[in-house]
Amino acid sequence: MNADTQHLFDQTILFIAGYGTVVFIFSLFLTAPFGKFYTNNWSWSIKVPGKPGWLFFESIPWIVYPLSFFAQTDTPSTPALLLLFLWQAHYLHRSLIYTYFAPSMAPMSLLITVGGAVVFNVANGFVNGTAAALTDEKRLFEWQFWIGVIVFAVGMSINVSADYHLFSLRQQKADGDKPKQRYFIPRKGMFVYVSAANYFGEILEWAGYAIASGNIAPCFCSSQWRISFLADYLNTDVSSVTQFIEDFNNSYEHKHKAFEDNFWATKMNLAGCSSDELTRTKNELDAFLGDAQMLSKVQTLLQRPDLSVEEAKTLRIFERTFKCYIITDADGVRMREDLNRLEAKLAEHRRAFKLGYFHPDSNVFVEASSVQLRSIMRTSDNEALRKACWDGMRSIGPFIAPEFVEIVKLRNKLARSLGFECFYDMKVTAAEGFGKKTLFPILEKLLARAKDIQNKALETLAKEKGADALKGWNRGFALAGDLSALQDPYFPFETAVNAWARSFAALGITYAGATMRLDLCDRKGKYSNGFCHWPQPAWVSTTKGWVPSQANFTSLATPGQVGSGHTALVTLMHEGGHAAHFANVTQPSPLFSQERAPTSIPYAENQSMFLDSLVGDAAWLARYAVSKDGKVMPWDLIEREIRSLHPYKVFDLTAMLAVPFYEQRLYEMPEDKLTVAALIELADQVELEVQGGLSGRPLLAVPHPLTDESAAYYHGYVLADMAVHQTRKHFIKKYGYLVDNPEIGKDLKNIYWQPGNSRMFLDLVHEMTGSELSGDAWIEMLEQDVDALVAEEKKEYEEAIAKGPKYGTKDSVDLDMRVILVHGDEVISDSSALKGGLTEACEKFEQWIGVNFHGQK
Ligand SMILES: [Zn+2]
Repeated sequence: MNADTQHLFDQTILFIAGYGTVVFIFSLFLTAPFGKFYTNNWSWSIKVPGKPGWLFFESIPWIVYPLSFFAQTDTPSTPALLLLFLWQAHYLHRSLIYTYFAPSMAPMSLLITVGGAVVFNVANGFVNGTAAALTDEKRLFEWQFWIGVIVFAVGMSINVSADYHLFSLRQQKADGDKPKQRYFIPRKGMFVYVSAANYFGEILEWAGYAIASGNIAPCFCSSQWRISFLADYLNTDVSSVTQFIEDFNNSYEHKHKAFEDNFWATKMNLAGCSSDELTRTKNELDAFLGDAQMLSKVQTLLQRPDLSVEEAKTLRIFERTFKCYIITDADGVRMREDLNRLEAKLAEHRRAFKLGYFHPDSNVFVEASSVQLRSIMRTSDNEALRKACWDGMRSIGPFIAPEFVEIVKLRNKLARSLGFECFYDMKVTAAEGFGKKTLFPILEKLLARAKDIQNKALETLAKEKGADALKGWNRGFALAGDLSALQDPYFPFETAVNAWARSFAALGITYAGATMRLDLCDRKGKYSNGFCHWPQPAWVSTTKGWVPSQANFTSLATPGQVGSGHTALVTLMHEGGHAAHFANVTQPSPLFSQERAPTSIPYAENQSMFLDSLVGDAAWLARYAVSKDGKVMPWDLIEREIRSLHPYKVFDLTAMLAVPFYEQRLYEMPEDKLTVAALIELADQVELEVQGGLSGRPLLAVPHPLTDESAAYYHGYVLADMAVHQTRKHFIKKYGYLVDNPEIGKDLKNIYWQPGNSRMFLDLVHEMTGSELSGDAWIEMLEQDVDALVAEEKKEYEEAIAKGPKYGTKDSVDLDMRVILVHGDEVISDSSALKGGLTEACEKFEQWIGVNFHGQK
């Protein structure tokens, strides 16, 4: 070794020793804060794909070592060559063979893992290659040399066999039939043994190499790196990640189900239900989702360098979920508590508020709910009465404004303390994974294009019904017709379940073994709002295998009432769509397939709204809108609907858009300008700008902005509707038709449904349709000429009449699902207990409706 090399050699040894010590201490004491740092700051988490990253930095030693080695000598001794051989054996295996056989490797952080490893590996290869080259021939005859070689060989065989055992445990995901087993633990504790053996083997290897070479300094430095990994393990968690994930999943599943079962029992007013149990299980679930210690443990585990792709993905959904429910900062916690109090108070006041109108004839105040007010505005031919109801709706704003202003201010303060621009930014980021800066340009583009169409629609409406028709209290009445009464016979309530089941089966939709409980009819003591919940989320357990979902669905139908059949059908198509979506999520944790945050609202609604949109298609109506005596809805009723509604569909779009634009501007108002008067004035201003006039449903009467879970949320409906139109357009382009097309169920399942919330909504829309989410398809639909649309739909209608539905009413359809139709505690029919399955269950339901609602025997 010449003097320069000697100098570099010594410096490098010092460097590695220092570097190794720093890493060692870092991993011993700083794992938790490091975890927080890592996930909150993007610059630390630029990711490189696992396999190429690993291949790259583990290849450096087998390149640098021989270069340094042959720089020292052209005629190496036999023991030097043997040391070279040992080194190359380890690193060629580690870089090429290990990477090739590893089933998957999680992406790694560029700066920390790859950057750090490159520096270390260059230094390590250089000092060890240089030292080994100078080994004397005499070393071959010393016993230490051979002891070292044997220890190295034993260490490497332990290390390598542990690696492959670990792979085989993970590899099992590739076997088996449908919902795949993602990873697997045959025995508790096995994994602990294996991953410890892995590291033990490697440390033994380098101890052997040190003994054989006699170059203690360079070898000691090299092992420090490995020892620091081991320390990391001892510090974080001795048991395996896989076991942790499985335990976590099971606890969540258990707590989620306990709460949801009680939720259903109390809301349906079942025998033996207990609101104390409901509160207890709710608190347990809340405590589980709010456990900050668990969050920090998950973040620590996320640092481990040996996570598989599946493990990293699962830990990340744990982290994302916790972050939706946990605020760790003490000030933040206080603000959150204050907000909860303020919101509860406002809700209480709002409930106690006497809503209603002053009757124009008597000037007597009549109490009425907002649903009743809007219904009068739609149906009464007395304009003075409609105006009175509209004034009633507008009285909500000034009532809630003083308390709402304080809530808006505090929400913003909380969001800003957590590093967000404003409350809206915080909410959208948590729910969608993208901020306000991504969201609003999408909405603004949509609005800009909708405005022209809206202006035209307003003009047409004024021309046809008079300028007064544009007033807030007149618009709804001017647009409402008698169509729903005329169409009613073609949507019989009692066959709605059958029509939904046949239509979904014809789309190739299946439910992967799910169970769905339907309680459709109104009764005394039943909760006064329809909903669909999932007591059992679908997931793939490492021990139990595929766990199918269970859904509970309720509506408040009164069979026989005009419109009840249509409502039931649309609701079944919608909620049945949600249920199909969540039943087909095949991910390694129930957190991927539950309906609460971080599941994106537009992602969930896109599925259900796409499927319920079919009920508006002539091709669907010609097959499934059939009266009790077997008559199909006639074409002229469909044509009337298109002609009377299509030109004004743009109003639905702008009414939807007004809410997010109002909330955006509200949360962007400077605090000193945010007064009660400003809040009310802004609402009118946004209505005028966005909807082209004061709205029939005043913005301040929309309840969503008032409560935390639905505030800054309404854009979700807009994005979902954009995605629905884009998805419809994509399928029509790809297949030519939608209704009864079995390819559509397959595509929905493979692209939209299986990933659950593991993938982002915008990415999924892009993957399905091949383009970025945009309002283009929606706008195209709105811009379509009525005559052209009528001609198109007529053709679809005639073709559908000629073809008929894929399954007749008596055909047996298999949705791979158990359907239980109930009425409170009474089980009407259960498809799993009947020979004729779902078809027979539907028949029994029809009979039951006949007996209970139409006085049949
Ligand atoms: Zn929905």
